[in-house]
Amino acid sequence: MLLSARYVLPVSAPFIENGAVLVRDGAIVEVGSRDDLAARHPQEEERDFGQAALLPGFVDLHTHLEYAVFRGMVDDAPYSQWKLQVMRKEAALSPQDWAVSAELGATEAVRSGITAIADITDTGASLAAASAAGLRGVVYREVSTMDRGEVDGVVASALDDIERWQEEASPRIEVGLAPHSPYSCHPRLFEAVASVALERRLPVAMHLAGSKDEHDFIKYGSSLLGREYREESGWSSIGWLPTGVSPVRYVYQWGILEVPRMLAVHCVHLDEGDVEVLARTSVAVAYCPRCNLKLGMGIAPLQELVDAGVLVGIGTDSPASNSTMDFFDEMRIGLLVQRGLAGEARFYPAERFVRMATLDGARALGIDHLVGSLEAGKRADVVAVDLSRSHQVPTRDPYGAIVHTANQDDVLMTMIDGSIVFDRRAADAAELADLAGRAEQVQAKIRDVVVA
Ligand SMILES: [Zn+2]
Repeated sequence: MLLSARYVLPVSAPFIENGAVLVRDGAIVEVGSRDDLAARHPQEEERDFGQAALLPGFVDLHTHLEYAVFRGMVDDAPYSQWKLQVMRKEAALSPQDWAVSAELGATEAVRSGITAIADITDTGASLAAASAAGLRGVVYREVSTMDRGEVDGVVASALDDIERWQEEASPRIEVGLAPHSPYSCHPRLFEAVASVALERRLPVAMHLAGSKDEHDFIKYGSSLLGREYREESGWSSIGWLPTGVSPVRYVYQWGILEVPRMLAVHCVHLDEGDVEVLARTSVAVAYCPRCNLKLGMGIAPLQELVDAGVLVGIGTDSPASNSTMDFFDEMRIGLLVQRGLAGEARFYPAERFVRMATLDGARALGIDHLVGSLEAGKRADVVAVDLSRSHQVPTRDPYGAIVHTANQDDVLMTMIDGSIVFDRRAADAAELADLAGRAEQVQAKIRDVVVA
């Protein structure tokens, strides 16, 4: 099939005006001028998207697909309070409810042009939903405990799940391991995760240095995370002493940052020298600007990270924290806050954010040999984005148009491995209404859970 559009953005090469991408057997065969490709392949079926851009699918470096039904549940609380409220509501959901929630998350992802995810899941629902939706990427089995006596059991049960999940997952999905965060994992758990990840070559992800409360709990021993959260988790009788170091330094000493293919999510509250630790250990960072802003966590120091050579991609986090998985909003707001912070000193161009959203994200997951750019030989993970609407025309620079004018409703088509997983012109409204109805029913169960 020949996909053509006004603009083709290979990401690894300059954009092509009136370009096309030739896709056969799930792979990209050629990328170039539309007229040239059409002339040389006259028999090829063509789909012309017109005033639109074709670009690599977005790599969302931080999702929790299974939290989609939490959308709008806790919209006005800072991080620690938000975390507590979400935790208290989680208990009301059954495995079937989590499945509906994850299905909604996966549906939104592909409609937003996301073709690869790095999803942290507690229930496993994300794995089935991501596989069914055709998504690519890594699904990480979450682990947590502050109780040293529970560490062996927690790891053993995670490994059981991982073995089962590896059999159940679609061939495009790899299974990884995710120690939840510095404030919810005993040091021995970090050591155990590091050792099994090395032994079994598992990718690892963790939330790190997200909120100020996390930073203060680790360094100074106090904050809401040190009291209510530990009580809620049943760890209030377990001693905790201030460590005197930042979350990054704290987990560094347990060996977790040295695991190959380590992904650190958030990295907002970094102390002096933390960026060098992340760079030295080759940790990739998921920049989640909207979630960080919405929960009052702060703004990650993108400039320092990039300057130190840290690989940074973009993550939406879940609708529980971020309300939508709109990847255009994520790029746009992520870019604007950095311009606002740095002023003219470090002025990120839109093109840089499109690369972070695609190729850099793929590099962070170690799948850039397969996807992340439109190049002959790579798998055909391609999105078509409409640039013809009243809020977009006239268009001059397609990168600027993608970042500054487009939103998830402008996605015309999402293709993964050469298969169209979302096609706006064929989208079934009844199917979506049915899913929305089921999600509404699940949300009803958590809406009235009383939280202190
Ligand atoms: Zn998260």
